[in-house]
Amino acid sequence: MDESTAEHPTTFADLGLRSELVDALASLGYEEPTPIQAAAIPVLIAGSDLLGQAATGTGKTAAFALPILQRLEAGARGPEPIALILVPTRELAMQVSEALHRYGRGLGVRVVPVYGGQPISRQLRSLEAGADVIVATPGRAIDHLKRRTLRLDGLEVVVLDEADEMLDMGFAEDLEAIFAETPASRQTVLFSATLPKRIDAIARQHLRDPERIRIVAEVQSDEANQRVRHSAYLVQRSHKAAALGRILDVESPAAALVFCRTREAVDSLTETMNGRGYRSEALHGGMTQDQRDRVMGRLRAGTADLLVATDVAARGLDIDHLTHVINYDVPSSVDTYVHRMGRVGRAGRDGVAITLAEPREHRMLKTIEHVTKQKISMEKIPTVADLRARRLDLTRAALRESILGEDLDGYRVVVESLAEEFDLMEIALAAVRQAHSALGGTEDSEDIPEATISAPARDAGRNVGRDSGRDGDRDPRPGRAKRATTTSSAGSARLFVNLGREAGLRPQDLVGAITGETSLSGKDIGSIEISGRFSLVDVPEGAADEVISALRNTKIRGRRATVRRERF
Ligand code: AMP
Repeated sequence: MDESTAEHPTTFADLGLRSELVDALASLGYEEPTPIQAAAIPVLIAGSDLLGQAATGTGKTAAFALPILQRLEAGARGPEPIALILVPTRELAMQVSEALHRYGRGLGVRVVPVYGGQPISRQLRSLEAGADVIVATPGRAIDHLKRRTLRLDGLEVVVLDEADEMLDMGFAEDLEAIFAETPASRQTVLFSATLPKRIDAIARQHLRDPERIRIVAEVQSDEANQRVRHSAYLVQRSHKAAALGRILDVESPAAALVFCRTREAVDSLTETMNGRGYRSEALHGGMTQDQRDRVMGRLRAGTADLLVATDVAARGLDIDHLTHVINYDVPSSVDTYVHRMGRVGRAGRDGVAITLAEPREHRMLKTIEHVTKQKISMEKIPTVADLRARRLDLTRAALRESILGEDLDGYRVVVESLAEEFDLMEIALAAVRQAHSALGGTEDSEDIPEATISAPARDAGRNVGRDSGRDGDRDPRPGRAKRATTTSSAGSARLFVNLGREAGLRPQDLVGAITGETSLSGKDIGSIEISGRFSLVDVPEGAADEVISALRNTKIRGRRATVRRERF
C-alpha cells in the first residue's frame, strides 16, 4: 500500500467553515487543512476551549483565525472587538493581522494590531474607528487597558498564541491582568509549542474543560529510515531559491521531489528554478489528469530533473529513481514529514531528505527530530568555494570518463601542434578550462548569508517600544508567493528551447531561426531570455505550434534543439 493513502483527506468545507472562507483559502492555493487545522477548527467552531500543542509552521494561525472569522456576521458590527489574540512579538502581531486580512478578505474584517514600537496615537485612532479583532502584545494591551482605550467587555474569544514564549518573555503577570478584564463567558484558546507546568497552570485556571490537541505522529522507525540521510539548512526566506539551487548543485540528484505548501508556491518556485537553469516541472491539485500524466512522462523520460509539488498532488506518485526529497518549507506536521520522506529510501536504495527551514521554524525541526527519533543534521549552505570545488570534481570525472572510454585520436593533431609552442601542462589546463565552462552552470559570486536562531528578548518592562522582535527575518507577508516576472503576456505562448549561453546561443540566433523558418517577422517575437542551459522565447499563441515544429526541424547554431511550450 502506498503510505500516502494512510492520510485522511478532509476539505476546509468539511470542517464547517463558511463558503466565503473556503473560497478565500482556495484562492490562496491552500489545498487541504493541515492536521492541526483539521483537528482544531471543528472544536473551535463548536465553541469549546482549546489547548493546542503546535509550533510555528504547523498552520496554527489559520487554525484559530478561521473560527474567529466564522463568527463575524456580514454588515454592521459594533465598535468593540469580539476577539483578542495575544502574541509575544511585534512581528508575530503583524503576521497574524495579515493572516486575518487574507483569510477574511470577503468579510470586511477590521483587525487592529497593537504592539510596542509603533506610536500609540495611530493605534488609538484605529481603535476608536472600531475593531472586530485585536492582535496585541501583552505589554501594549495593558497600556491601552489602563488608558481605557481598549475595552474587552464584548469579547467572545481570547487566544494566547505561542504562550510558552510569552511566559519566557516575562508576560505572565500581564496575561493575568488582561484575563481579569475579559468576560467569563469567553472562549479561550491556548497554543503553545511546549507544555511546561506553567502553561498547564494557566490552562487549569483560565480554560474551561478544554479539548487538548496534540498532533502525534505514528512513526515506524523501519529499515527504510536507516537508508535515508536527513539534513536541514537554516535559510532566510529571501535566499531560499538560491539556497535550493546551491544544494541541488552539490547534491546532483538523479531526480528530486520538492514540496511546497501552496499551488502558488509550486508555480512560482518552478518558474524560478527554470529561470536558474534547472529543468523543473510543477505538479499541483489544480492540474488535469492529462497535464499530470505529461509531467510524469517528462520526469520518467529524464527531460525534467525536478518535480515541484504540493502534498495533495504528490499523493500516490511513485517515482522509482527518486533520490532526493526536499521540503522547501518545514512540513506542517511530523506525519507530513514522514510521508514525504517515505518516498526515498525505498527498495533498499539510499535516499536524501532535505529541509529548508527559516530561523523561526527551527522548533518544528526539533519536534520532528524528537518524534521520529531521527537525527536531522544541520548543514551549512554550500559556499561559492564549495560549489567551485564540486564543479571541478564533476569536470574531472567527465574528463576521466572521456579518457577511459573515448577514442581521442582525432584530437592528437591539435595537441601535437600546440605542443610545439606550449608545454603539455599548459595545453591540458586550457582544455580543462574549456571543458569546465562547457559543463558548468552559471557561477555565483556571492555567498548566501548564514541564518541563525536569535534568542527571544526577555524584557518584562512595560514601556512603549519594548516589544522587541524575536526574529527580524519574518516575511511580513507569509504565504504570499511572489510571482516571478517571467510570465508570458496574454495572447502569447512561452517556448522553451534547450539551448542557451553555453551552446553559444544569442537572441539574434533565435530571432533568425524563427523568422527564417516561419511566417513570423521580428516584431511578432516577444521577450527572449537566454540562460546558461536553455532559453525562453515568447511568440504569438496562434503561431506557437508552427514555431515549435519549424524549430524542431532546423538547426540553431549547428545543433538540433528541443522546443516545447514552457507552460501548459
Ligand atoms: P503558521 O504555522 O500558522 O505560522 O503557518 C505556516 C505557514 O503555512 C504560513 O505561511 C501559512 O500561510 C501556511 N499555511 C497555513 N495553512 C495552510 C494550508 N492548509 N495549506 C497550505 N499552507 C498553509
